[in-house]
Amino acid sequence: MSKKPTIKQKLSKPRSKRRFAVWVHKIQERLIKRINLVKCDKCGSPRLSHTPCRTCGYYRGRQIIKMKEPELKKTTKVKV
Ligand SMILES: [Zn+2]
Repeated sequence: MSKKPTIKQKLSKPRSKRRFAVWVHKIQERLIKRINLVKCDKCGSPRLSHTPCRTCGYYRGRQIIKMKEPELKKTTKVKV
Protein backbone atom coordinates (compact mmCIF):
# COMPACT_ATOMS: atom_id res chain seq x y z
CA MET A 1 0.00 0.00 0.00
CA SER A 2 1.08 3.52 -0.69
CA LYS A 3 2.00 5.78 2.19
CA LYS A 4 0.64 8.91 0.55
CA PRO A 5 -3.07 9.45 0.17
CA THR A 6 -3.99 8.97 -3.45
CA ILE A 7 -6.26 11.28 -5.36
CA LYS A 8 -9.55 9.80 -6.52
CA GLN A 9 -10.08 11.97 -9.55
CA LYS A 10 -7.81 13.72 -11.98
CA LEU A 11 -7.77 17.47 -11.36
CA SER A 12 -8.65 19.73 -14.24
CA LYS A 13 -5.94 21.99 -15.67
CA PRO A 14 -7.28 25.29 -14.29
CA ARG A 15 -7.83 23.75 -10.89
CA SER A 16 -4.31 22.39 -10.61
CA LYS A 17 -2.93 25.65 -12.00
CA ARG A 18 -4.83 27.61 -9.36
CA ARG A 19 -3.54 25.35 -6.60
CA PHE A 20 0.02 25.76 -7.87
CA ALA A 21 -0.39 29.56 -8.04
CA VAL A 22 -1.56 29.68 -4.41
CA TRP A 23 1.39 27.51 -3.40
CA VAL A 24 3.85 29.78 -5.24
CA HIS A 25 2.36 32.86 -3.57
CA LYS A 26 2.74 31.25 -0.14
CA ILE A 27 6.37 30.33 -0.79
CA GLN A 28 7.16 33.83 -2.09
CA GLU A 29 5.67 35.44 1.02
CA ARG A 30 7.67 33.12 3.25
CA LEU A 31 10.90 33.97 1.42
CA ILE A 32 10.23 37.72 1.49
CA LYS A 33 9.74 37.56 5.27
CA ARG A 34 13.10 35.84 5.69
CA ILE A 35 15.10 38.24 3.53
CA ASN A 36 15.98 41.50 5.25
CA LEU A 37 15.77 44.24 2.65
CA VAL A 38 16.82 47.80 3.40
CA LYS A 39 16.74 50.97 1.33
CA CYS A 40 19.96 52.16 -0.27
CA ASP A 41 21.11 55.51 1.14
CA LYS A 42 22.25 56.79 -2.22
CA CYS A 43 19.79 55.61 -4.83
CA GLY A 44 16.92 54.40 -2.63
CA SER A 45 16.51 51.03 -4.29
CA PRO A 46 16.04 47.95 -2.08
CA ARG A 47 19.20 46.03 -1.23
CA LEU A 48 20.21 43.22 1.11
CA SER A 49 21.48 44.42 4.47
CA HIS A 50 25.26 44.30 5.02
CA THR A 51 25.88 44.14 1.28
CA PRO A 52 26.74 46.81 -1.29
CA CYS A 53 23.95 48.09 -3.48
CA ARG A 54 23.57 46.28 -6.78
CA THR A 55 22.36 49.28 -8.73
CA CYS A 56 24.86 51.96 -7.66
CA GLY A 57 27.63 49.91 -5.98
CA TYR A 58 27.72 52.00 -2.82
CA TYR A 59 28.02 50.71 0.72
CA ARG A 60 28.29 52.94 3.80
CA GLY A 61 28.95 56.01 1.69
CA ARG A 62 31.81 54.49 -0.29
CA GLN A 63 31.78 53.04 -3.78
CA ILE A 64 32.71 49.36 -3.50
CA ILE A 65 31.71 48.03 -6.90
CA LYS A 66 32.60 49.86 -10.06
CA MET A 67 29.40 50.03 -12.06
CA LYS A 68 29.25 50.32 -15.81
CA GLU A 69 27.91 53.60 -17.10
CA PRO A 70 24.47 53.19 -18.61
CA GLU A 71 24.56 53.10 -22.38
CA LEU A 72 23.06 56.07 -24.09
CA LYS A 73 19.80 55.43 -25.84
CA LYS A 74 19.94 55.30 -29.59
CA THR A 75 18.93 58.70 -30.81
CA THR A 76 16.30 58.85 -33.46
CA LYS A 77 17.05 60.52 -36.72
CA VAL A 78 16.33 64.21 -36.57
CA LYS A 79 14.40 65.59 -39.52
CA VAL A 80 16.13 68.54 -41.07
ZN1 LIG B 1 22.16 52.16 -4.38
